[in-house]
Amino acid sequence: MRQSLYALVSAGLIAATMPYSNDLMAAEKPVTREEIALGEKQYGPNQQQQGGLYTLDPALSAYVQRVGMKLAKASDAPDLPYAFVIINSSDLNAWALPGGKIAINRGLLAALDSEAQLAAVLAHEIAHVTKRHSARMQKKAEGASLLGTLIGLGIGMKAPEYRDLAMQGVSTLAYGAQANYSRDHELQADKAGMKTMSRAGYDPQAAVALQEIFLREAQGRKNDALSGFFASHPPSQERISENKATAKTLPAGGLLNDADYRKATTLLARDKPAYQLLKEATAAYAAKNYGQTVVLCDKAIALQPKEVLFWEMKGQALAKQSRGKEAVAAFDKAAAANPNFYRPLLLRGMTQNALGQYAPAEASISAAQKLLPTQIGAYTLGELSQRRGDRNAAAGYYRQAAQGGGEIGKAAQERLRSL
Ligand SMILES: [Zn+2]
Repeated sequence: MRQSLYALVSAGLIAATMPYSNDLMAAEKPVTREEIALGEKQYGPNQQQQGGLYTLDPALSAYVQRVGMKLAKASDAPDLPYAFVIINSSDLNAWALPGGKIAINRGLLAALDSEAQLAAVLAHEIAHVTKRHSARMQKKAEGASLLGTLIGLGIGMKAPEYRDLAMQGVSTLAYGAQANYSRDHELQADKAGMKTMSRAGYDPQAAVALQEIFLREAQGRKNDALSGFFASHPPSQERISENKATAKTLPAGGLLNDADYRKATTLLARDKPAYQLLKEATAAYAAKNYGQTVVLCDKAIALQPKEVLFWEMKGQALAKQSRGKEAVAAFDKAAAANPNFYRPLLLRGMTQNALGQYAPAEASISAAQKLLPTQIGAYTLGELSQRRGDRNAAAGYYRQAAQGGGEIGKAAQERLRSL
Protein backbone atom coordinates (compact mmCIF):
# COMPACT_ATOMS: atom_id res chain seq x y z
CA MET A 1 0.00 0.00 0.00
CA ARG A 2 2.71 2.37 1.05
CA GLN A 3 4.78 1.49 -1.97
CA SER A 4 1.97 1.85 -4.45
CA LEU A 5 0.88 5.22 -3.06
CA TYR A 6 4.45 6.35 -3.19
CA ALA A 7 4.71 5.25 -6.80
CA LEU A 8 1.54 7.15 -7.59
CA VAL A 9 2.85 10.30 -6.02
CA SER A 10 6.13 9.81 -7.81
CA ALA A 11 4.34 9.55 -11.10
CA GLY A 12 2.64 12.81 -10.34
CA LEU A 13 -0.79 11.27 -10.69
CA ILE A 14 -2.11 12.39 -7.33
CA ALA A 15 -0.81 15.89 -7.85
CA ALA A 16 -2.31 16.05 -11.30
CA THR A 17 -5.76 15.01 -10.14
CA MET A 18 -5.95 17.32 -7.12
CA PRO A 19 -9.23 19.24 -7.27
CA TYR A 20 -8.42 22.63 -8.65
CA SER A 21 -11.10 24.55 -6.72
CA ASN A 22 -9.62 23.49 -3.36
CA ASP A 23 -6.27 24.70 -4.61
CA LEU A 24 -7.53 28.15 -5.33
CA MET A 25 -9.20 28.45 -1.94
CA ALA A 26 -6.14 27.23 -0.06
CA ALA A 27 -3.84 29.51 -2.02
CA GLU A 28 -5.36 32.60 -0.44
CA LYS A 29 -4.54 31.51 3.12
CA PRO A 30 -1.28 32.69 4.68
CA VAL A 31 1.43 30.24 5.71
CA THR A 32 0.54 28.78 9.13
CA ARG A 33 2.70 28.30 12.20
CA GLU A 34 2.11 24.56 11.86
CA GLU A 35 3.57 24.58 8.35
CA ILE A 36 6.61 26.51 9.51
CA ALA A 37 7.19 23.95 12.29
CA LEU A 38 6.80 21.08 9.81
CA GLY A 39 9.35 22.58 7.41
CA GLU A 40 11.79 23.24 10.24
CA LYS A 41 11.48 19.67 11.51
CA GLN A 42 12.14 18.15 8.11
CA TYR A 43 14.86 20.46 6.86
CA GLY A 44 17.72 18.56 8.52
CA PRO A 45 16.59 15.02 7.56
CA ASN A 46 15.88 16.16 4.00
CA GLN A 47 19.37 17.62 3.72
CA GLN A 48 20.86 14.37 5.04
CA GLN A 49 18.93 12.22 2.59
CA GLN A 50 19.88 14.33 -0.38
CA GLY A 51 23.64 14.16 0.28
CA GLY A 52 24.30 16.50 3.20
CA LEU A 53 25.39 20.10 2.91
CA TYR A 54 28.03 21.27 0.46
CA THR A 55 30.65 22.61 2.88
CA LEU A 56 33.69 23.10 0.63
CA ASP A 57 32.96 26.73 -0.17
CA PRO A 58 31.41 28.70 2.73
CA ALA A 59 31.59 31.91 0.68
CA LEU A 60 29.35 30.33 -1.98
CA SER A 61 26.88 29.21 0.72
CA ALA A 62 26.78 32.78 2.08
CA TYR A 63 26.24 34.12 -1.45
CA VAL A 64 23.26 31.79 -2.07
CA GLN A 65 21.78 32.76 1.30
CA ARG A 66 22.28 36.47 0.46
CA VAL A 67 20.60 36.22 -2.95
CA GLY A 68 17.80 34.12 -1.43
CA MET A 69 17.10 36.63 1.36
CA LYS A 70 17.07 39.53 -1.10
CA LEU A 71 14.34 37.69 -3.04
CA ALA A 72 12.48 36.63 0.11
CA LYS A 73 12.24 40.27 1.18
CA ALA A 74 10.75 41.13 -2.22
CA SER A 75 8.26 38.20 -2.08
CA ASP A 76 4.59 38.14 -1.05
CA ALA A 77 5.55 36.78 2.40
CA PRO A 78 8.75 38.60 3.38
CA ASP A 79 8.67 37.73 7.09
CA LEU A 80 8.86 33.93 7.04
CA PRO A 81 11.93 32.26 8.62
CA TYR A 82 13.62 31.60 5.26
CA ALA A 83 16.85 29.67 4.86
CA PHE A 84 18.79 28.76 1.72
CA VAL A 85 21.39 26.00 1.67
CA ILE A 86 23.47 24.11 -0.91
CA ILE A 87 23.09 20.32 -1.00
CA ASN A 88 26.17 18.30 -1.93
CA SER A 89 24.62 16.50 -4.88
CA SER A 90 25.35 16.56 -8.60
CA ASP A 91 21.66 16.10 -9.45
CA LEU A 92 19.97 19.10 -10.99
CA ASN A 93 17.56 19.86 -8.19
CA ALA A 94 16.13 22.51 -5.92
CA TRP A 95 13.33 22.16 -3.37
CA ALA A 96 11.30 24.03 -0.81
CA LEU A 97 9.70 22.90 2.42
CA PRO A 98 6.64 24.63 3.89
CA GLY A 99 7.46 27.82 5.75
CA GLY A 100 10.49 28.86 3.68
CA LYS A 101 13.21 26.23 4.07
CA ILE A 102 14.83 26.04 0.66
CA ALA A 103 17.75 24.11 -0.87
CA ILE A 104 19.59 24.08 -4.20
CA ASN A 105 22.00 21.36 -5.31
CA ARG A 106 25.64 21.92 -6.13
CA GLY A 107 24.96 20.33 -9.55
CA LEU A 108 22.27 22.86 -10.43
CA LEU A 109 24.48 25.77 -9.35
CA ALA A 110 27.17 24.46 -11.69
CA ALA A 111 24.72 24.43 -14.62
CA LEU A 112 23.71 28.11 -14.29
CA ASP A 113 25.31 31.13 -15.98
CA SER A 114 24.27 34.13 -13.89
CA GLU A 115 23.03 35.35 -10.54
CA ALA A 116 19.75 36.27 -12.25
CA GLN A 117 19.27 32.58 -13.20
CA LEU A 118 20.00 31.58 -9.61
CA ALA A 119 17.42 34.21 -8.59
CA ALA A 120 14.92 32.62 -10.99
CA VAL A 121 15.39 29.21 -9.32
CA LEU A 122 15.17 30.56 -5.76
CA ALA A 123 12.24 32.91 -6.49
CA HIS A 124 10.36 29.98 -8.07
CA GLU A 125 10.90 27.91 -4.89
CA ILE A 126 9.91 30.89 -2.71
CA ALA A 127 6.68 31.10 -4.72
CA HIS A 128 5.91 27.41 -3.98
CA VAL A 129 6.22 28.39 -0.29
CA THR A 130 4.20 31.61 -0.36
CA LYS A 131 1.48 29.95 -2.46
CA ARG A 132 1.54 27.01 -0.03
CA HIS A 133 2.02 24.42 -2.79
CA SER A 134 4.52 22.37 -0.80
CA ALA A 135 2.40 22.58 2.36
CA ARG A 136 -0.59 21.11 0.57
CA MET A 137 1.54 18.41 -1.05
CA GLN A 138 3.05 17.63 2.35
CA LYS A 139 -0.37 17.17 3.96
CA LYS A 140 -1.24 14.69 1.26
CA ALA A 141 1.99 12.83 1.78
CA GLU A 142 1.38 12.60 5.51
CA GLY A 143 -2.17 11.44 4.91
CA ALA A 144 -0.73 8.60 2.87
CA SER A 145 1.79 7.89 5.67
CA LEU A 146 4.71 8.48 3.38
CA LEU A 147 6.69 10.24 6.05
CA GLY A 148 8.36 7.96 8.53
CA THR A 149 11.02 8.94 11.02
CA LEU A 150 12.83 5.75 10.14
CA ILE A 151 14.38 5.63 6.75
CA GLY A 152 14.47 2.16 5.30
CA LEU A 153 17.41 0.91 3.34
CA GLY A 154 16.16 -0.58 0.14
CA ILE A 155 18.35 -3.62 0.35
CA GLY A 156 17.22 -7.18 0.17
CA MET A 157 18.12 -8.74 3.47
CA LYS A 158 19.40 -12.22 3.50
CA ALA A 159 21.88 -12.16 6.32
CA PRO A 160 24.67 -11.29 6.11
CA GLU A 161 24.38 -9.71 2.67
CA TYR A 162 22.13 -6.93 3.89
CA ARG A 163 25.21 -5.31 5.35
CA ASP A 164 26.26 -4.50 1.84
CA LEU A 165 25.21 -0.88 1.78
CA ALA A 166 24.82 0.29 -1.76
CA MET A 167 25.30 3.97 -2.51
CA GLN A 168 21.74 4.36 -3.61
CA GLY A 169 20.48 2.10 -0.85
CA VAL A 170 18.76 4.77 1.21
CA SER A 171 15.22 5.11 0.04
CA THR A 172 14.29 8.74 -0.12
CA LEU A 173 10.92 9.38 1.36
CA ALA A 174 11.91 12.94 2.21
CA TYR A 175 9.27 15.08 0.82
CA GLY A 176 10.39 18.35 -0.69
CA ALA A 177 12.90 16.71 -2.94
CA GLN A 178 10.30 14.33 -4.33
CA ALA A 179 7.45 16.77 -4.71
CA ASN A 180 5.68 16.55 -8.01
CA TYR A 181 3.91 19.81 -8.46
CA SER A 182 0.99 20.04 -10.83
CA ARG A 183 1.37 21.87 -14.10
CA ASP A 184 -0.75 24.70 -12.72
CA HIS A 185 1.44 25.02 -9.62
CA GLU A 186 4.52 25.17 -11.81
CA LEU A 187 3.09 27.91 -13.99
CA GLN A 188 1.89 29.83 -10.91
CA ALA A 189 5.32 29.55 -9.28
CA ASP A 190 7.07 30.70 -12.48
CA LYS A 191 4.83 33.74 -12.73
CA ALA A 192 5.00 34.76 -9.06
CA GLY A 193 8.74 34.03 -9.00
CA MET A 194 9.37 36.29 -11.99
CA LYS A 195 7.46 39.13 -10.31
CA THR A 196 9.57 38.65 -7.18
CA MET A 197 12.87 38.60 -9.05
CA SER A 198 11.88 41.69 -10.99
CA ARG A 199 10.99 43.53 -7.76
CA ALA A 200 14.40 42.52 -6.40
CA GLY A 201 16.03 44.19 -9.42
CA TYR A 202 16.83 41.15 -11.61
CA ASP A 203 16.16 40.79 -15.32
CA PRO A 204 13.07 38.52 -15.61
CA GLN A 205 14.39 37.26 -18.98
CA ALA A 206 16.74 35.06 -16.90
CA ALA A 207 13.69 32.90 -16.03
CA VAL A 208 13.20 32.28 -19.76
CA ALA A 209 16.89 31.43 -20.19
CA LEU A 210 16.64 29.09 -17.19
CA GLN A 211 13.77 27.12 -18.73
CA GLU A 212 15.73 26.88 -21.98
CA ILE A 213 18.69 25.39 -20.07
CA PHE A 214 16.34 22.91 -18.36
CA LEU A 215 14.68 21.85 -21.58
CA ARG A 216 18.08 21.28 -23.18
CA GLU A 217 19.33 19.29 -20.17
CA ALA A 218 16.13 17.23 -19.95
CA GLN A 219 16.33 16.29 -23.62
CA GLY A 220 19.98 15.34 -23.17
CA ARG A 221 19.31 12.93 -20.30
CA LYS A 222 16.03 11.18 -20.90
CA ASN A 223 16.92 7.93 -19.16
CA ASP A 224 19.35 9.40 -16.71
CA ALA A 225 18.98 8.89 -12.97
CA LEU A 226 19.31 12.64 -12.64
CA SER A 227 15.79 13.17 -13.85
CA GLY A 228 14.43 13.80 -10.32
CA PHE A 229 14.24 17.54 -10.75
CA PHE A 230 12.57 17.25 -14.12
CA ALA A 231 9.96 14.93 -12.65
CA SER A 232 9.03 17.62 -10.11
CA HIS A 233 9.67 20.62 -12.35
CA PRO A 234 8.90 19.44 -15.88
CA PRO A 235 10.48 21.78 -18.42
CA SER A 236 8.42 22.43 -21.52
CA GLN A 237 8.09 24.71 -24.50
CA GLU A 238 4.86 25.87 -22.85
CA ARG A 239 6.70 27.14 -19.79
CA ILE A 240 9.20 28.97 -21.98
CA SER A 241 6.35 30.68 -23.87
CA GLU A 242 4.49 31.53 -20.65
CA ASN A 243 7.62 33.01 -19.11
CA LYS A 244 8.25 35.08 -22.23
CA ALA A 245 4.69 36.44 -21.93
CA THR A 246 5.16 37.19 -18.22
CA ALA A 247 8.46 38.97 -18.90
CA LYS A 248 6.63 41.33 -21.29
CA THR A 249 4.39 42.50 -18.40
CA LEU A 250 7.42 43.34 -16.22
CA PRO A 251 9.94 46.20 -16.50
CA ALA A 252 12.57 45.36 -19.12
CA GLY A 253 16.24 45.10 -18.21
CA GLY A 254 17.59 44.60 -14.72
CA LEU A 255 20.54 42.81 -13.18
CA LEU A 256 22.10 39.67 -14.63
CA ASN A 257 25.24 39.74 -12.43
CA ASP A 258 26.94 37.11 -14.56
CA ALA A 259 30.45 38.25 -13.63
CA ASP A 260 29.55 38.11 -9.91
CA TYR A 261 28.15 34.63 -10.44
CA ARG A 262 31.25 33.36 -12.22
CA LYS A 263 33.38 34.70 -9.38
CA ALA A 264 31.17 33.13 -6.70
CA THR A 265 31.25 29.74 -8.46
CA THR A 266 34.99 29.67 -9.23
CA LEU A 267 35.63 26.61 -7.04
CA LEU A 268 32.65 24.73 -8.50
CA ALA A 269 33.97 25.38 -12.01
CA ARG A 270 37.46 24.29 -10.98
CA ASP A 271 36.15 21.08 -9.35
CA LYS A 272 33.95 20.08 -12.29
CA PRO A 273 36.45 17.49 -13.64
CA ALA A 274 36.72 15.93 -10.16
CA TYR A 275 32.93 15.48 -9.91
CA GLN A 276 32.97 14.05 -13.44
CA LEU A 277 35.45 11.44 -12.16
CA LEU A 278 33.03 10.67 -9.29
CA LYS A 279 30.30 10.07 -11.84
CA GLU A 280 32.58 7.62 -13.66
CA ALA A 281 33.58 6.00 -10.36
CA THR A 282 29.91 5.55 -9.45
CA ALA A 283 29.29 3.87 -12.80
CA ALA A 284 32.34 1.61 -12.28
CA TYR A 285 31.03 0.69 -8.82
CA ALA A 286 27.61 -0.13 -10.21
CA ALA A 287 29.33 -2.37 -12.80
CA LYS A 288 31.22 -4.07 -9.91
CA ASN A 289 34.59 -2.82 -11.19
CA TYR A 290 35.81 -2.03 -7.70
CA GLY A 291 39.50 -1.74 -8.59
CA GLN A 292 38.66 0.79 -11.28
CA THR A 293 36.39 2.63 -8.80
CA VAL A 294 39.33 3.10 -6.43
CA VAL A 295 41.58 4.35 -9.26
CA LEU A 296 38.97 6.93 -10.35
CA CYS A 297 38.34 8.06 -6.76
CA ASP A 298 42.08 8.55 -6.21
CA LYS A 299 42.19 10.75 -9.32
CA ALA A 300 39.27 12.81 -8.01
CA ILE A 301 40.89 13.07 -4.57
CA ALA A 302 44.11 14.32 -6.16
CA LEU A 303 42.07 17.19 -7.66
CA GLN A 304 39.98 17.90 -4.55
CA PRO A 305 41.17 16.11 -1.40
CA LYS A 306 38.45 17.57 0.83
CA GLU A 307 35.37 16.20 -0.93
CA VAL A 308 33.51 13.79 1.37
CA LEU A 309 31.86 11.93 -1.55
CA PHE A 310 35.18 10.95 -3.16
CA TRP A 311 36.45 9.35 0.06
CA GLU A 312 33.09 7.74 0.73
CA MET A 313 32.95 6.10 -2.70
CA LYS A 314 36.54 4.91 -2.32
CA GLY A 315 35.68 3.41 1.08
CA GLN A 316 32.76 1.50 -0.37
CA ALA A 317 34.84 0.06 -3.20
CA LEU A 318 37.56 -0.99 -0.73
CA ALA A 319 34.96 -2.65 1.49
CA LYS A 320 33.74 -4.61 -1.54
CA GLN A 321 37.28 -5.87 -2.09
CA SER A 322 37.37 -7.08 1.54
CA ARG A 323 39.93 -4.40 2.37
CA GLY A 324 38.03 -3.46 5.53
CA LYS A 325 40.77 -1.61 7.39
CA GLU A 326 41.58 0.58 4.37
CA ALA A 327 37.85 1.17 3.92
CA VAL A 328 37.56 2.38 7.52
CA ALA A 329 40.50 4.75 6.91
CA ALA A 330 38.73 6.14 3.80
CA PHE A 331 35.47 6.60 5.74
CA ASP A 332 37.49 8.39 8.45
CA LYS A 333 38.64 10.86 5.81
CA ALA A 334 35.08 11.24 4.55
CA ALA A 335 33.72 11.84 8.05
CA ALA A 336 36.48 14.36 8.74
CA ALA A 337 35.61 16.23 5.53
CA ASN A 338 31.99 16.62 6.69
CA PRO A 339 31.35 15.40 10.25
CA ASN A 340 27.66 16.37 9.94
CA PHE A 341 26.75 13.89 7.21
CA TYR A 342 25.30 10.58 8.40
CA ARG A 343 26.34 8.32 5.53
CA PRO A 344 30.12 7.98 6.00
CA LEU A 345 29.50 7.41 9.71
CA LEU A 346 26.96 4.68 9.01
CA LEU A 347 29.18 3.04 6.39
CA ARG A 348 32.18 3.19 8.72
CA GLY A 349 30.14 1.65 11.54
CA MET A 350 28.91 -1.21 9.34
CA THR A 351 32.45 -1.89 8.17
CA GLN A 352 33.83 -1.78 11.72
CA ASN A 353 31.09 -4.17 12.77
CA ALA A 354 32.10 -6.60 10.02
CA LEU A 355 35.72 -6.34 11.22
CA GLY A 356 34.66 -7.23 14.77
CA GLN A 357 35.47 -3.73 16.07
CA TYR A 358 32.26 -3.59 18.07
CA ALA A 359 32.80 -0.57 20.32
CA PRO A 360 33.93 1.75 17.49
CA ALA A 361 31.08 0.37 15.35
CA GLU A 362 28.54 1.29 18.02
CA ALA A 363 29.99 4.81 18.35
CA SER A 364 29.97 5.37 14.56
CA ILE A 365 26.43 4.10 14.03
CA SER A 366 25.08 6.01 17.05
CA ALA A 367 26.55 9.23 15.62
CA ALA A 368 24.95 8.49 12.24
CA GLN A 369 21.55 7.78 13.85
CA LYS A 370 21.58 11.22 15.51
CA LEU A 371 21.87 12.84 12.08
CA LEU A 372 19.43 10.55 10.27
CA PRO A 373 17.85 7.45 11.83
CA THR A 374 17.99 4.49 9.46
CA GLN A 375 16.46 1.07 9.83
CA ILE A 376 19.72 -0.75 9.21
CA GLY A 377 21.39 1.50 11.80
CA ALA A 378 18.76 0.67 14.43
CA TYR A 379 18.96 -3.07 13.68
CA THR A 380 22.75 -3.16 13.92
CA LEU A 381 22.73 -1.18 17.17
CA GLY A 382 20.29 -3.80 18.45
CA GLU A 383 22.76 -6.56 17.59
CA LEU A 384 25.65 -4.66 19.15
CA SER A 385 23.67 -3.97 22.36
CA GLN A 386 22.65 -7.62 22.56
CA ARG A 387 26.28 -8.67 22.15
CA ARG A 388 27.17 -6.50 25.17
CA GLY A 389 24.38 -8.18 27.13
CA ASP A 390 22.18 -5.07 27.26
CA ARG A 391 18.84 -6.70 26.47
CA ASN A 392 16.77 -3.58 27.22
CA ALA A 393 18.70 -1.40 24.82
CA ALA A 394 18.65 -4.18 22.21
CA ALA A 395 14.86 -4.50 22.51
CA GLY A 396 14.48 -0.74 22.03
CA TYR A 397 16.56 -0.77 18.85
CA TYR A 398 14.84 -3.88 17.44
CA ARG A 399 11.42 -2.30 18.09
CA GLN A 400 12.60 0.78 16.21
CA ALA A 401 13.91 -1.33 13.32
CA ALA A 402 10.71 -3.40 13.27
CA GLN A 403 8.66 -0.23 12.60
CA GLY A 404 10.38 0.16 9.25
CA GLY A 405 8.84 -3.09 7.95
CA GLY A 406 10.36 -5.07 5.08
CA GLU A 407 12.93 -7.81 5.53
CA ILE A 408 14.96 -5.95 8.13
CA GLY A 409 11.74 -5.28 10.02
CA LYS A 410 10.90 -8.99 9.99
CA ALA A 411 14.38 -9.93 11.17
CA ALA A 412 14.10 -7.35 13.97
CA GLN A 413 10.80 -8.92 15.08
CA GLU A 414 12.40 -12.36 15.17
CA ARG A 415 15.24 -10.97 17.26
CA LEU A 416 12.72 -9.38 19.62
CA ARG A 417 10.93 -12.70 20.12
CA SER A 418 14.16 -14.55 20.83
CA LEU A 419 15.58 -12.00 23.28
ZN1 LIG B 1 8.44 24.09 -9.07
